[in-house]
Order: sequence, then C-alpha cells, then structure tokens
Amino acid sequence: MQIVEYRIAPHLINDELGHRMMIANALSVGVQEFQFQIVRRSIDARQRVMYIIRAEVYFENEKLTRLLDFQFEFKNAIDAPAVHIIGAGPCGYFAALECLLYGIKPIVIDRGKDVRERRRDLRAIQQEGIVNPDSNYCFGEGGAGTYSDGKLYTRSDKRGNIKKILQLLVHHGAHEDILVDAHPHIGSNKLPDLIARMRETITSHGGEVIFNTRVEDFFIDKNKIKKLICSTGDIDVDRVILATGHSARDIYYLLHKKQIAIETKSYALGVRIEHAQSLIDEIQYKQKRRDENLPAASYSLSCTVDQKGVFSFCMCPGGLIVPASTSPGEIVVNGMSLSRRDSPFANSGLVTSVDEQDFSSYKSHGVLQGLEFQKRIEQRMFSLSDGTQRAPAQMLADFLGNRTSDALCDTSYIPGLISAPLHSSLPQQIVYRLQKGLLQFAKKMPKYIYSNAVLVGTESRTSSPVRIPRDAEYCHHPQIVNLYPAGEGAGYAGGIVSAAMDGIHVVNKIALNLKLI
Ligand SMILES: Cc1cc2nc3c(=O)[nH]c(=O)nc-3n(C[C@H](O)[C@H](O)[C@H](O)COP(=O)(O)OP(=O)(O)OC[C@H]3O[C@@H](n4cnc5c(N)ncnc54)[C@H](O)[C@@H]3O)c2cc1C
Repeated sequence: MQIVEYRIAPHLINDELGHRMMIANALSVGVQEFQFQIVRRSIDARQRVMYIIRAEVYFENEKLTRLLDFQFEFKNAIDAPAVHIIGAGPCGYFAALECLLYGIKPIVIDRGKDVRERRRDLRAIQQEGIVNPDSNYCFGEGGAGTYSDGKLYTRSDKRGNIKKILQLLVHHGAHEDILVDAHPHIGSNKLPDLIARMRETITSHGGEVIFNTRVEDFFIDKNKIKKLICSTGDIDVDRVILATGHSARDIYYLLHKKQIAIETKSYALGVRIEHAQSLIDEIQYKQKRRDENLPAASYSLSCTVDQKGVFSFCMCPGGLIVPASTSPGEIVVNGMSLSRRDSPFANSGLVTSVDEQDFSSYKSHGVLQGLEFQKRIEQRMFSLSDGTQRAPAQMLADFLGNRTSDALCDTSYIPGLISAPLHSSLPQQIVYRLQKGLLQFAKKMPKYIYSNAVLVGTESRTSSPVRIPRDAEYCHHPQIVNLYPAGEGAGYAGGIVSAAMDGIHVVNKIALNLKLI
C-alpha cells in the first residue's frame, strides 16, 4: 500500500476518474491499475481553493482494508459489577459504551429527558422564553452535545483515541465521512437519532439509563459514596463517574458544601458574533459565490491582548445562535448548525480568557469566584432584556465606537435581539480585550470587522469555571476514592470528542481497579 497526497479542484471532488488521474499521475501508473480509498480530506483556501486529499493506494495482490472494516464487541453486563454514571452527555455515554467493552454494567442517571422529549423544552425556550432547569440546551440525554453543532475536532489528540470515538459514532449511525474529513461535523438534526441508538446499545447489553432523576446529594461513609440521594429516591452505589458538565452549578455547590475539594479554573467569556455566511464565504474562498462543492466556510481567529487570549470559539458556519441558559433569570448564548449548514448566517463565540485577576471582586466566594463572576454576567444580560430570552445585542461598529445601536440587523437567534450597550454592560477589562482583539483581527480579515455584524450577549459557558481534582494515576477524587470526576464539568475536557475521550479514560482506570485489564 502506498500513501499519495494531491490537490484536486472542488468540481472534481466527487469524480472518481478525476481522483484516479491524480493518483496515476503521482505514481506514474495506469488509471485502472490500482484500488484506492481516501483517508483524509481538507481544504486549502490560501490561494486558489483546492481540496487536499490523502489516499491509500493498493496494487494487484494487496488487500484493501476499508475504513469501515471495524467492529465493537459489547459484552452483556446484566449481572456484572456496576458503575453509576451521573450525566448522559458525551462523557457519560462514551464511558457507558466503554464499560460494555469490558463487561462492566453502566447505570447512567440524568436529570433531563430523553432526546425526543427534550425537544419540547427547547421549543419552550425558543418560542416562549421558558427555561426548564432540568431540560434545556445543556441538560438531558446527550448533554450539551445533542443539539449542538456536532463539530468533532479537538486539539487534545494526545489525550486519547480520537479514531475510536469517530468509529463509535459511525457504528451508531454517523456518516462515514467523519472518518475522513479534517473538520468532521454531524449536525444537530442527525445527533438525536445517533444518541438514541447509543442508548439502545447500552440497554440491550444489560446497562440502564434513568432519566428525569437529578442527583441532589451524596451519602458518604469512610471516604466512599454509598448512596446517591436523587430527586426520585436513593440509589446504592459502589463506584460513581461524575460527568455532569460545565453547567451543573448545583453539583459544584454541593461538593463545596460537603467540603469535597474543588478548585477555581480559568475559562473564556465574551459574546457571540454573527455575520452573513455569504460574507465569510467571500472572505475565505475569495469568490463572490461559493462553489456548490465547497462547504459553508469557517474561520478561526486568535490574538493576545494584555497577555490574555482573545479568540473565536465554536464557530458555526451556516448555523444558528441558540439560547443555552440553564436557569430562569439568565441569558447565555451558544451556536449550533444542521448537517447541511445551510442557514444564511455564520456565528462564532468571540471570547477572551478570564482568570483570578478578572474575578478579583468575587474573591470572597473562594473557589467559586469564577462561577459567581460568570453567573452575575449572565444575570446582568437578562436584566438588559425584557424578561424573555431576547438577547442583548449591539452592532459590531457600535461596540467598537462605544455607542448603543439604533437598529440591529437580521439574526438567526429565534427568541430575537434587543438593543443594549454591551460595551458598558460587560466587565470593562473584557470589553477592552474584545475591542482590541477585534482590531487585531481586522489586520487579518478586514471585511470581518468593517461589514455588518452583530454581537450577542453572552457567550459564557465555554468551559468549566471549576476543576474537580482527581488522582493523576487512578482518576478518583483525592478524598472520595470511589468518585471519578470526568468530562467537561470536572475540567478535563472541552468539547464533544475530548469529553468522550475522558469518559473512556476514566473507565479504563476503573477496569484496571477491577482487574479487568
Ligand atoms: C449549543 C451548543 C453547541 C455546542 N457545539 C459543540 C460542537 O459543535 N462541538 C463540540 O465539540 N462541542 C460543542 N459544544 C460543547 C459540548 O457539547 C460539550 O463540551 C460536551 O457536551 C461536554 O460533555 P460532558 O459529557 O462532559 O457534559 P455535558 O454534555 O454537559 O453533559 C452533562 C450531563 O449531565 C446531566 N446532569 C447535570 N447535573 C446533573 C445532576 N445533578 N443529576 C443528574 N444529571 C445531571 C445533564 O443533564 C447533562 O446531560 C456545544 C455546546 C452547546 C451548549
């Protein structure tokens, strides 16, 4: 087998003969003398827009191993030792699947509803501004990953086996393209079915998934959790994975109240910025109209202001801004997209890193200072609105010019926008860094700044404001030896893939403990 890399024009991307000619040319062989499969696909838009392809090429006697030639052997774990997993997000569900690969019984508990039922609550937030604190864009089956953009790339590729995560997703119904694309993406219209299939794998192999059950307290004896005290009754446990995500503030308060160690963590905070997708396509592809064989263009921007990062975050081409609040009385926004990424809008977080320097006036809250800082900003955003989920917003030019906008442009945000002076409502150091950062971005992408764009407040749930410590080798909490903090909420992941990898990582440690490895 030989690996060949080549560039191919967008109009030839689906043309088999076109690919054969590129390979034949690179290897000086005839176009029909080989079999091939594409193993990597990315786009280079620096000059003329081209796909960059990596292909495996097989000759006569060589056996082609297809990317889809993999399988998973989930064991029946009905009578096996159990792990209770709090949280049915990517961390919790991938941890449950990993349990089944070892023959451990996963029992997943989530405060929210199954993916289908959850939709009603999302409609209530979008259309009536009603936030159900147990079922929303962050809580419920699949966690914050379900109604998300479904971008599947991560920078933390050293932390685990990304390929295995993608294969597990394909096994449960994701398109095989995600095994090849440099920036794989699923889309929030496809994710719910895929998550329901994961649940079927869990329950059909002896695992359990319990919905509408909020964990409210722990009964602890001799450094071990013995019972979960839940909204629906008590549950006896032997070992617990805590995968409750970055928005489960009640869990942080609970741990703090019980004097179970947690730590302050830096994160990032700012606004969501929305442009017309056609503008981003034009900037990135340097074409007036995007070629139909190219996806909606994305971008990634970053710089440093006053030694703090300012960067684009979770950019959603052809996407929608969504209300991601988890409690009444706050406004939080995030972004998602459908698999076709065909909305006329491009949105992205525009955020700056925040740390103890920024939280200084919240010092009295100790380890919860970052959380309280985040919470107050979200509440402040709500106070600028009209009691619904209409989000405070400002045109980009007005934000840079420190004036309230007289009018706002069209938006994808369904609850609607309300003009507000974000420049004087967000903490001043954050406004300063965002303004300076935007001016630096203008040097790289002038039209990004000097075109119609709207800023929406606030993008505050970028990662957890708290870390739950764990033993470096065995992954359990230093004080509670059968509690395994995991995923984004514990501070060990940021995004779907890294949360899934962390869930798997923790189960490997539990399997070691159970002498299954
Ligand atoms: C709108 C949106 C779009 C996003 N887009 C992307 C993207 O495109 N790509 C990407 O990589 N990341 C994206 N993210 C982030 C990603 O979803 C998270 O990083 C990821 O879901 C974290 O996984 P997790 O399992 O650690 O936690 P979560 O997904 O937050 O799951 C935690 C689960 O715990 C449950 N829970 C919380 N408290 C309790 C309790 N007390 N008792 C019982 N259950 C509880 C919750 O109901 C929830 O289901 C997006 C997030 C949002 C909100």
